[in-house]
Amino acid sequence: MLQVIARVPAKINLMLSVGPVRSDGFHELATVFHAVSLYDEVAAVHADAVTVHVTGPYAGHTPADESNLAVRAARALARRARLRSGAQLRVHKEIPVAAGLAGGSADAAGALLACDRLWGLKLPESRLSAVAAGLGSDVPFALTGGTAVGTGRGERLRPVPVGAPLHWVLATADGGLSTPEVYRRLDDLRSDRKVPAPAVPGELLAALASGDVDALAALLHNDLQEAALALRPALGDTLRAGRELGALAGIVSGSGPTCIFLARDGMSAGALAVGLAASGTCASALAVTGPAAVGT
Ligand code: ATP
Repeated sequence: MLQVIARVPAKINLMLSVGPVRSDGFHELATVFHAVSLYDEVAAVHADAVTVHVTGPYAGHTPADESNLAVRAARALARRARLRSGAQLRVHKEIPVAAGLAGGSADAAGALLACDRLWGLKLPESRLSAVAAGLGSDVPFALTGGTAVGTGRGERLRPVPVGAPLHWVLATADGGLSTPEVYRRLDDLRSDRKVPAPAVPGELLAALASGDVDALAALLHNDLQEAALALRPALGDTLRAGRELGALAGIVSGSGPTCIFLARDGMSAGALAVGLAASGTCASALAVTGPAAVGT
């Protein structure tokens, strides 16, 4: 029986600038998405209906019913293509859940790519991306991987070049943070401030293009960090530990609670991961590289 497999990476935000709330309730964003080498796998085979079975270390934290983003994605694609086909999906989850790593969005993108192939649709990228945007702000980037500037809600993408592979450590935390709750806290914290239009500094794109890790380290920034720290003060200990252990820089990833640390090279990232894991300030620490590609 034909089985199609998509391998989809986690994402981190090297820069996340959160603007004012729009009339549709979303925040205007300017961000740099960067896919890293931690992958979920989505496999699809023909079936009458769309169902999902979840395996792997984070299966217990992932819904296996129709609220699973992979199921929602496959159904949205079938509707868009006016198909009655179904698919039995298997999601192998290595990306922690509700961690600020967009694992759910990765699975949605994986299901779109796998079902597009399984059902022989061969939809152009722009149409898949339109279905993806209807599923969530991070899903269009999850279809492409690599590194990209995201604007709007994050769904308008412009790929950006990266001059050399980058080495990161992801420090995960026990228990997730709800993305809407983190945004609500940010709105509370900024209620008496004027919020400027979001922007990605040109210096950051220049540092990425030239592979200058020292310049990049000084420019990593996340507007949501303040809110994530307010909700989970212990993340301050994780960030301090990483810096004391020699990270070039550390920030909260997306809406958290995962913290990301930039290392000078692969050896330093390996040593940093060991040190962070032993520090008692995180649940696990994993050395990864970026930019990572989507595999089908
Ligand atoms: P983002 O940064 O994109 O908001 P996140 O990385 O913080 O997301 P996810 O791991 O994508 O968080 O999970 C967000 C929520 O989506 C979880 O509460 C989870 O219950 C739900 N969810 C639905 N389907 C999935 C899936 N396939 N994998 C992970 N979470 C899923």
